[in-house]
Amino acid sequence: MSLRGKLVAFIIGAVALIQLFWGLSVVQSNAALMEREAHRRSRAILHAIAAPAALHLATREFETIDAILDVYEKRSTGELAFRAIAVLDINGEVVAHTDPRQYGTTMDSTFVVNALNTRRSLTQHIQTERGRVAQVSMPIISGLRWGTIIAETSLGGLDDRVVSNQITVLISTLLIAFSTAILIWALLNKMVFTPLEAFARTSRAIGAGDFSARSNVPKTKDELELLGNTINEMAERVETHAGHLEATVTARTSALQDANTALAKVNRDLATAVDELARLARTDGLTQLNNHRTFQERIVEEVRRSERSKFPLTLLMIDVDHFKAYNDTHGHPAGDRVLIRVAELMTSVLRNTDVVARYGGEEFAILLVDTPLSFAAQVGDKVRTAIRSEIFEGADRSQPAGRVTVSIGMAGWPVHGKTAAALIDSADQALYQAKHAGRDQVKMCEDLSL
Ligand code: GH3
Ligand code: MG
Ligand code: MG
Repeated sequence: MSLRGKLVAFIIGAVALIQLFWGLSVVQSNAALMEREAHRRSRAILHAIAAPAALHLATREFETIDAILDVYEKRSTGELAFRAIAVLDINGEVVAHTDPRQYGTTMDSTFVVNALNTRRSLTQHIQTERGRVAQVSMPIISGLRWGTIIAETSLGGLDDRVVSNQITVLISTLLIAFSTAILIWALLNKMVFTPLEAFARTSRAIGAGDFSARSNVPKTKDELELLGNTINEMAERVETHAGHLEATVTARTSALQDANTALAKVNRDLATAVDELARLARTDGLTQLNNHRTFQERIVEEVRRSERSKFPLTLLMIDVDHFKAYNDTHGHPAGDRVLIRVAELMTSVLRNTDVVARYGGEEFAILLVDTPLSFAAQVGDKVRTAIRSEIFEGADRSQPAGRVTVSIGMAGWPVHGKTAAALIDSADQALYQAKHAGRDQVKMCEDLSL
């Protein structure tokens, strides 16, 4: 239930209760007042009747008493009119009555007995089929006690009036409570709930991230104005704080992005350096060919591959002839340049799939994959010719042949060796034979029994 509903329900309830309580008590006190008035009037009338009644009772002039009763009964009109008036002698016998049928009867109810035995006027209320009735007694005294007068007044009319007044109170209570509720609802709406709802909307908007939301604060100089101003001040602070926070986040994000970019570059450089290191570890620094270690790995791999595929594999071991003489004559740097150029020449006459390596010093190795010995001999000769055809600086002066030449030993898998080591050994032997036979030539391993 909304606060508005609760307040209105509470006010309706409170107003209705107060109104109902007040209205009913007014009705009740009015009824009691009227009852007292009825009794007072009855007693006054009976008192007026009592003196002549005593006189005529003494003389037993009952007709006169009847006439007196008739007069008073007729005079009594309206809601609190007498229903009956009876004059009893000291024995309770009816000697006069507004209803002639009651003559001679004896009344012996407790009330009558009490009335006959007291010198005071008594009153009692009894419930009859025709409604509530008030009985009032008045003693007849004239020196001696002669009897008593009993009058009955119907209170039915009074009770009906009380009920009708109660209904009026109920209806007016409802009307007053309802109209009060409408009035209060309208007032609360205008003065309290409309501004409160506006504040709630502003707070919700701020909660949803709209930090620029503000409330229209009523200039009522009360708690609502205070609340509205407080919400607006809070929104102001939140907006400022969010602005700072956003700026900080943007700055930090940008710094982080820069750091990430730098890190990515460092990572790339590192990867490049690692690749370069790996390449350097596998490459001969002077000639940029595969180094000895790489060659050892590759020949093992290629032998394994040939074992699986059964394709032929040929190894050429190449050694520069009389290279010491070249070095001695032209110096080490010139010797280095020869080695670099020899490497280039070998690479230029080979396929990409062939493996070329600097085996050590001025010695090189070539692995011709998927190449039979007959074709490998031609490749070997192509290498030898390419080198001896090159003009090397001062070779005519230092080299016995007048130019730089190489000797080549050849061995084929599996005929000259089934393992990498055996193959290298065979090619080395063939190289030795080429040297021995006068250099500048290609020799195939002759021991086919290996
Ligand atoms: P052979 O025909 O019998 O092979 O005679 P050779 O002089 O070539 O053979 P030897 O083994 O006596 O000499 C090899 C020379 O190669 C000795 C060494 O100074 C030279 N050498 C080895 N490695 C390098 C190098 O990296 N740079 C240079 N400039 N010379 C090298
Ligand atoms: Mg050598
Ligand atoms: Mg040599």
